[in-house]
Amino acid sequence: MVSRVIPVDSFDLVIFGGTGDLARRKILPGLFHRFCAGQMPDTSCIIGAARADMDDVAYRTLIGEALDEFAPESRAMPDDVAGFLDRLSYVRVDATGDAGWSHLAKKVRKDVVQAFYFSVGPSLFGPLAERLHAHAIATSQSRIVIEKPFGRDLQSARALNATLAEHFTEEQIYRIDHYLGKETVQNLMAVRFGNVLFEPLWNAQYIDHVQITVAETVGVAGRGAYYDKSGAMRDMVQNHLMQLLCLIAMEPPSFFEPNAVRDEKLKVIRALDPVAADQVVRGQYKATRNTPSYLEAAENPDSLTESYIALKVHISNWRWKGTPFYLRTGKRLKSRVSEIVVHFKETPHSIFGDEARSAANALVIRLQPDEGIELSVTIKEPGPGGMRLVNVPLDMTFAEALGPDGENVPDAYERLIMDVIRGNQTLFMRGDEVEAAWAWTDPIIEMWTTAGKKPIQYDSGSTGPEEAMILLHRDGRRWREIET
Ligand code: NAP
Repeated sequence: MVSRVIPVDSFDLVIFGGTGDLARRKILPGLFHRFCAGQMPDTSCIIGAARADMDDVAYRTLIGEALDEFAPESRAMPDDVAGFLDRLSYVRVDATGDAGWSHLAKKVRKDVVQAFYFSVGPSLFGPLAERLHAHAIATSQSRIVIEKPFGRDLQSARALNATLAEHFTEEQIYRIDHYLGKETVQNLMAVRFGNVLFEPLWNAQYIDHVQITVAETVGVAGRGAYYDKSGAMRDMVQNHLMQLLCLIAMEPPSFFEPNAVRDEKLKVIRALDPVAADQVVRGQYKATRNTPSYLEAAENPDSLTESYIALKVHISNWRWKGTPFYLRTGKRLKSRVSEIVVHFKETPHSIFGDEARSAANALVIRLQPDEGIELSVTIKEPGPGGMRLVNVPLDMTFAEALGPDGENVPDAYERLIMDVIRGNQTLFMRGDEVEAAWAWTDPIIEMWTTAGKKPIQYDSGSTGPEEAMILLHRDGRRWREIET
């Protein structure tokens, strides 16, 4: 069955952690945008829930300030802001106690779509699920949204899945990975499966290798102690990079339908080879004159946690045998870039002679900055003087290609929250997918934990450790420059 937008007459969305950073920075500004786009039915309600003592008026003031900061365009739209804030109310509730639950039970309507967003620390996911049932607030139709991290290894992810399953069916659970909500990520599927051009070439016979890069310029200062328990592999690779890899590598699903897509992604994860020690590079950024080193920010001089990781990954199936996927992600790097580069093989023979040999085609799928897709092709350099070839990009930056619509691409959170309301799970991870991802990740982490090897120190503002460059040089390849 093909998924389609289901009209929703009304909904109640409860945001546990409604005063927190994520709610103020992403969730509520995202909802404000959807409100302005006319996608919020008149009688729908948003209920913030947390332990802080405040009333509806104080909560609306808090969120009004958040809109001012994180959706600055709202400053010119006072009527819309007032209309949106009118939908908000607040309930004081303790996820680990009994306070506030009976009040919440009276507030949440049973005859509309109910969604509960768990925007709180992971230790509260289980207690919230339990209390929603104990206080008879959730129904068999309610949906819960779970933020990352979903466990820190296979065992904890299984335990969390089991706890949630005591109270909710898989169809009610929306495990969020905001990368899947990005416009480009969905466009990747449109490009692959909506054109006849790419799919026949989408295999090891024509694709030399794939690079997936998520580079950040920020460090971990302010949340170093928290990050130090996780590291780049757990924080980024197990979820975001793995999801991107799945969408590139999966077989075409029969329909763009939640379980059809997720079945195909799961097969990719299960086909991933184990990773050997010489296929991984881990690093920690150094201090600059103005910024602390990773070790200083983590407040742990002996930390073995990585702020950078690069991996060479193989997928053992017919389509991909022999085509490596190189993944890298890190903090305090030169630029903030998220992109996937599909490097095609060179032409088997150059009819123009060796000097005029064409560069291989590459398809660049950019998630940030400037979401868009670019295909590099070889053409003749204009002018007389023989057949000189030049590689040029066919650029489809959404903001340019799609005009005003491209500039107004909804933020990932906006799209995903509305998908929850509409009951569309296509862009959310299923429980078995998350477990399979941990089952692949755990032995890699165990390998370096057992070895006790220190991550390599790399310069802040660089492209990462030199050893990550060597990882590709060894194979006669090189990373695409991470320039913005
Ligand atoms: P945060 O700023 O620390 O906010 C936590 C929220 O939870 C606050 O509203 C807090 O309010 C509430 N809370 C804490 N203990 C509670 C309890 N016992 N009962 C009820 N409410 C309680 O955290 P955050 O950055 O928003 O992150 C929330 C979740 O999103 C985490 O799982 C995080 O890993 C994930 N996440 C965050 C980001 C981000 O950019 N911030 C990105 C990706 C994922 P009170 O203290 O008043 O109760």
